[in-house]
Amino acid sequence: MGLTGWVCNSADGVLIEACGTVECLAHFIRRIRDEAPPLAAIVALEHHALPDDSGANSFTIRESGGSGRHVAHVAPDAALCGDCLRELFDPANRRFRHPFISCTNCGPRYSIITGTPYDRPNTTMASFPLCPDCRQEYQHPADRRFHAQPIACGACGPHLRLLDSDGAFISESDAALIRAGELLKAGAILAIKGIGGYHLAADACNNAAVGRLRERKKRDEKPFAVMAPDLAMARSLALLSQVEERLLASPESPIVIVRRADSCPVSALVAPGNALLGLMLPYTPIHHLLLRDSGFTALVMTSANLSDEPIAFQDCDALQRLSGIADYFLLHDRPIHIRCDDSVIRAFQERPLFYRRARGYAPRAIRLPFESPPVLAVGAELKSAICLTKGNQAFLSQHIGDLQHETAGASFRQTIQHLSGLLEVIAETIACDLHPDYLSSLHAAESGLPLIAVQHHHAHLAACMAENNLNGEVIGLILDGTGYASDGTVWGGELLVGGYDSFRRVGHFRQTRLPGGDKAVREPWRMALAFLYTAMGEAAFDLELPVTRHLSVAERAVFLAMLEKGLNSPFTSSCGRLFDAVSALLNVRHIVSYDGQAAIELEALAEESDDCLTLPYEVTLNTGGLYQVDFSTMIPAILLGLNSGVARAAIARRFHATVARASVEACSRIAREAGLDRVVLSGGVFQNRLLSEMVYTGLIEQGLQVFTHRLSPPNDGCIALGQAAIAGWKSRRNN
Ligand code: ZN
Ligand code: ZN
Ligand code: FE
Repeated sequence: MGLTGWVCNSADGVLIEACGTVECLAHFIRRIRDEAPPLAAIVALEHHALPDDSGANSFTIRESGGSGRHVAHVAPDAALCGDCLRELFDPANRRFRHPFISCTNCGPRYSIITGTPYDRPNTTMASFPLCPDCRQEYQHPADRRFHAQPIACGACGPHLRLLDSDGAFISESDAALIRAGELLKAGAILAIKGIGGYHLAADACNNAAVGRLRERKKRDEKPFAVMAPDLAMARSLALLSQVEERLLASPESPIVIVRRADSCPVSALVAPGNALLGLMLPYTPIHHLLLRDSGFTALVMTSANLSDEPIAFQDCDALQRLSGIADYFLLHDRPIHIRCDDSVIRAFQERPLFYRRARGYAPRAIRLPFESPPVLAVGAELKSAICLTKGNQAFLSQHIGDLQHETAGASFRQTIQHLSGLLEVIAETIACDLHPDYLSSLHAAESGLPLIAVQHHHAHLAACMAENNLNGEVIGLILDGTGYASDGTVWGGELLVGGYDSFRRVGHFRQTRLPGGDKAVREPWRMALAFLYTAMGEAAFDLELPVTRHLSVAERAVFLAMLEKGLNSPFTSSCGRLFDAVSALLNVRHIVSYDGQAAIELEALAEESDDCLTLPYEVTLNTGGLYQVDFSTMIPAILLGLNSGVARAAIARRFHATVARASVEACSRIAREAGLDRVVLSGGVFQNRLLSEMVYTGLIEQGLQVFTHRLSPPNDGCIALGQAAIAGWKSRRNN
């Protein structure tokens, strides 16, 4: 543009000093925004006028500025870009069918970086020296591959290998790819090395193959994700909104949960009894080649692990752990340095609603509304993630998994070490959950750092505040599964008022027993019985219902002891458990095989109806000055509906509307009393899109401002962010 001046990286971001005419500079600033490279994320763009005394007569790139507080951003992994895709299938291109093609705008990043600065020797590409052709592209500023660390070609890059289930060599390079496609077509199950781990793949339209995979993976009902070759095919599998299409085709390339089309040819065994489908598009060249070569409608691409274990990411580990599951292995010699699962999202109001935040998004920074000293937050236990702060940035790690699994513990520690190293954060404070027995809490206690233990739902509130850049005090409507509190009860349907500094509980869902403790989480029929008992006492046992019918006289006595005297049955205000109870009452789900299943299926049922009635409920102010949201009058109303032949879908929808309405009423009463008008929504129950929509609309109608999760999941995947914000705020004040 004929400008003079310079550009460099600094602690505060990119600095540009440019000299030119006023019009030219204005145009320049516009172009920075409009023509930013695909992977650039412009958080803020500030400009000031300077006196023209530089005397520069050219434009130069300066060395990155200074030592000390430089902000080492690590880019997430990005899906293959359009330019590389064209080259991949262009017989005239020198990277025709090269399974590791990439450029500045695409390819692996976070999963292959071993250290800083981000240069080839600090990636797992270090052992692949660039050939002269690649080097020339790498060194040429005008080239699309200028300083792109993962680039390679057939002459200098990694190679594919196909092995059988015993690890014996079958073929390599292009022959391996072609053979892998043929094997999949014939119904085989393949373990395929991806970006952040291995997938187990099978032809999604082949019932026998999908059935075999389900059997070998010991995963009874949890849906598998499928990968369609392109957007056109995706449209034939599912009913896609514009936003869903945009998210599917984005560089982040997540699994998007969408509504299955009636004519969808994908095997019903992919997601048994489920109207939704986890769909994604190919994001590596290997995926594109495989899907296109053999003309698949879709491939099942599910994380290669036994149920609930972390995804496998190292060759020897994969061969060992997956030999009983995969018939063949499609591997390569580019190591994966850090495990990173596929991200899972749903579209809500034009933006992503995260179920799992990992590949493509992690470890992108979330801007905090204040400067924080360096903090390490270790999260909760389920859907674990960790978070580091540096200045006003919070770096939330990828989803790690459920820390109850032995293998996840190792992954948890590796992620802490790796991310701290990459971001050059030496934590001064450590934050953890109040629950003393969580593996994360134990790790925090052992660290020897000053410790801040954060109540679970306070962390939920703070996470939603932080990512919405809020300060001050807000109302938190936290609808969750279960969380530890110091009063000996299990919280989970909470109305809080507070900020980063502190919080107070101003209301909660009426408590009921959790009969059998953790067992009640896996067996929703127990919750149905508990809510029936709360609503009508011992008479509940005499009802002719699926949840009572199978109880023997002895079992009835045990249950009565649990519900009456609290034998191994703490009180809980959990909203998640209320959804479980209603799911069981409506005969949707009595026992779950994965977390959240009962509620997910209840939501799907409710979406089949357009009923707009609500059921009875009560919001009362109890003697302690706490609001109580009470659904015990709703339970008999549900039974009455069932007995008088109201459709189950209609009842399910009325139930959603009732929970939303009661929550909105409690919030607006609290808002008036406390003189607050901002409400944050957090907790695993907000993965329910129908409920989220109803609560959101209801609160807006009450004239309140509503803030939801957009950058982190509403479930426990956000806990580390909330802990980090709280600990950061507190230690900032102490300093
Ligand atoms: Zn590219
Ligand atoms: Zn090369
Ligand atoms: Fe939670």
